[in-house]
Parts: sequence; structure tokens; C-alpha cells
Amino acid sequence: MELNLEEFRAKAHELVDWMADYLSNIEKHPVRSQVKPGEIFKQLPDMPPQQGEPFDDIFTDFQEKILPGITHWQSPNFFAYFPANSSYASLLAEMITATLGTQCMIWETSPAAAELEEKTMHWLRDLIGLPPSFEGVIQDTASTATLCALLTAREVKSEFRVNQQGLQSAPCYRVYCSTETHSSIEKDVKIAGFGKENLVKIETDEKLALRPDLLQKVIEADKAAGLVPLCVVAATGTTSTTAMDPLKAIGEICQKHGIWFHVDAASAGTAMMLPEERHWQAGVSLADSYVFNPHKWMFTNFDCTAYFVKNTEALVRTFTILPEYLKTKNQGQVNDYRDWGIPLGRRFRALKLWFVIRNMGVEGMQAKLRHHMAMAKWLEHQIVQHPDFELMAPRTLNLVCFRYHPRNVPANQLEALNMQLIQTLNDSGKLYLTQTKVRGAVTLRLVTGQTYVEQRHVEAAWKYIQKVASTLSAV
Ligand SMILES: *Cc1c(COP(=O)(O)O)cnc(C)c1O
Repeated sequence: MELNLEEFRAKAHELVDWMADYLSNIEKHPVRSQVKPGEIFKQLPDMPPQQGEPFDDIFTDFQEKILPGITHWQSPNFFAYFPANSSYASLLAEMITATLGTQCMIWETSPAAAELEEKTMHWLRDLIGLPPSFEGVIQDTASTATLCALLTAREVKSEFRVNQQGLQSAPCYRVYCSTETHSSIEKDVKIAGFGKENLVKIETDEKLALRPDLLQKVIEADKAAGLVPLCVVAATGTTSTTAMDPLKAIGEICQKHGIWFHVDAASAGTAMMLPEERHWQAGVSLADSYVFNPHKWMFTNFDCTAYFVKNTEALVRTFTILPEYLKTKNQGQVNDYRDWGIPLGRRFRALKLWFVIRNMGVEGMQAKLRHHMAMAKWLEHQIVQHPDFELMAPRTLNLVCFRYHPRNVPANQLEALNMQLIQTLNDSGKLYLTQTKVRGAVTLRLVTGQTYVEQRHVEAAWKYIQKVASTLSAV
């Protein structure tokens, strides 16, 4: 039953046809899977098969049992969260990566992987306007990259004592971010051993950006109390509303107090490829580290996070391990990326990035990003003009935050009304969007960033949102 090489060749050809068909028919699937909890699980046998099964049987089950439980992230009607984009070039590269099945932990285990990673990270760094003092490494997620930043900051501050002696030997470290920052920061602070209570969330201004005047005050008060300010995590594009923290003002405070400055640009970093958007990250040269996810908006399928850091020596010293079985004669002359992050084993992720950048070209990517933002701008305009809808936060890039607010509905019913609106929209399978809270108010988030989204999809979504909303207010 086990596939042989010739069967593999035949099935691979069939599968590529299936892949192309899937992508060309993707709009026929409900965007958000419509299954109930447990529905997939209970269809699957309790025991694995003792004997191998024919590939066709497995693939039939995939189509019949698994596919209905898939949410279609590559649908152009996917407007939820932030996109996890792919592209044809990225998919093809991923097939090669899987075929090579190489482990890219050290240079010797695939020199081309290490050197292509170094080169593509230079390309990316220059593309998004980071100064050449940064070096990059590919991580699995932004959550992991931010954890690397916190751990490196910890080791630099403790002169590498915490790695030796544990946190018992350390003073009380404090980490700062805004009240709007991504949940991964809190998770990372907990994992790094600082404790959630030592993550200080600074209030934001009317644009939902961190207030540097308050940051300054809190840092001074912490120092006076004998606590040790360790790291500030600023957001270039918060997840909730794509608010932009003022990097220059924050960076200056960090420099003054000797604090590690980490920038989380997980989604918005891609837009920094556009010279006209770089003003959002003015002052980024003051950062010690920076993360963005090509696996969000940059057409490169998950996972691919670009982590940039100035002090690579500190990064490597934080993570380095050298057991006998990993020693090689090239140590020190080449990048052994296992020392640049947490996992030892690493996928060959630079390959898909290289394929995407080369196949789309810088201008091709820029044109798509501008197109995405023009559609967001169009939608923003529709919402501002509509008497029964309101914009809930300033639009900076490709995310529009809004809610339904008919004049006859009292304020205390708006939350229920908008939650009902989201649920009805998502249950329809026609589109998928998610909600957030802006200053406590339920807000719909609509992101126009999927690789293949076109104006007609956004227009259809907007039309449908208005239609569903009007039926809700009638009841
Ligand atoms: C998506 C996002 C993250 C988390 O990204 P992962 O790669 O899934 O860990 C962190 N910060 C911001 C601002 C994000 O938008």
C-alpha cells in the first residue's frame, strides 16, 4: 500500500491539479468553516490503521471529512484577523522545501540555506528601510522573535548572569508596552520569567498610540523604587486597530535609560516596503530589535518571521550551546542559525521568501500593497459617509475599524447588535471578519490584505454588511 516512487510522481501531478482547482474555486467554499465543535473528531476512527491504506482513500477522506472543517484563509473574502497570505511562487517553493526536507540548524547541515537566509534577510532589511546595522534571522513566529528580544535584553542587562544562575540572582525587571499591544508580549514576559505583574501597560492617546510622556514617568518611578527597566516593546501597527506607536520619542527614552527597544511590526512591517508609508516608523534606527511577519501580508506562506537585531553577538551569546555532536570546523566563520533563536531544528524558510521576492519583484509587491490600501481607503470612505455606520479608529494601512450604529438604537444595545451582525455575516460563509474592542466598544475589523482580494470582493462585502445590518435593526 505504501506509495512507491512512480506512484508518488503520478499522485503529485494529480495533487498539483487539485491545488490549482482549489485555488480557482476557493470562493465557492464558506470562508469560515461552518462545522460544530467535535464534528470532525467524531468522524475519525479511534485507532490508527494496522495495515497501510491506499493513497486515494486517504485523499478522499481529506476531501470529505477534513476540508469541511477548514477555514479558507486564501479566500479573497477573508477579511478577518490579519491575513496569512500565500502566493503561487511561495507554494511551489514550499513543495521544494518539503522535498529537500533539510534541517537548517547549522551552516554545515545546508550551507545554501544559511547563506540564502543571510542574503534574503539583507534584502528584506533594506526593503523595509532598516539601517544596515541590523542583521536578520528567520523565526517561526513573531511571538518567538519577541521572546528572543526579551531574553537577549535580560542577558545583556544581567551581563549574562541569569543564563548561569537563574532569575534568583537578578533584580526585578520591568517591561513596558501600550495597553493596545499584542497578547504575545504578555505571554513572552511570563515565559521569560519576569512575571505578568512586571509588564507595565502604558495608556494611549486619541489615536491609540503609546503616550511617551506617561512611559517616561513610569520608568522614572520604577527606577526610584529600585526596579530595573529592561525593555520597551513598541507597536508599529497594533493588531486591534493598526495604531502606530511613536518610535522616535520612545527610542529616545530607551536610550536615555539604557533600555532595550524592541519594535513589533508583525503585520505593518510589510507596508514599510513603500517609501510613502515609512513615516510610520520614523525613529526605527533607535531600535535594538525589530520583528515583522512576511507570513502575514508579504505573500509568503506560514511560517516566516523576520527578526532583525543590531547586537547579534548578544543574541548568539544568549542562545549558544555547543555539545560535541554539533561542533564543526567552520564554527565562527559562518552563521549557525541554531544560535540565533530557540529551536535547534529549523526549516528551510528562506527558499520561499527568495521565490516570492524574485517572482513578484519589489515593484510587483509594492503595487499589490498599494492596491490593498486603496481598497481599505475606499471602504473607509463608504463608512464615513453612511449615516448608520461609524469609523471606530483612524485607518493607517489596510485595516478598517467600524461599527453599525443606527440612530434609533440606544448606546447600550450597540454591543449586542454588532455581535449579532458579525455572527450573521460569518455564519453566511460569504465573508469572514473578526471583532475587537476600541475603548470598550465592540468594533468590526475588516482587513483588505489577502493576496488575491480585488475591489469587487470589498464592494460585495460592504453591500452584504449593509444588507444584513438593515435586517437586524428591523427586528
Ligand atoms: C500577528 C501579530 C503578532 C503575533 O504573530 P505570530 O507570528 O502569530 O506570533 C504579534 N504582534 C502583532 C502586532 C501581530 O499583529
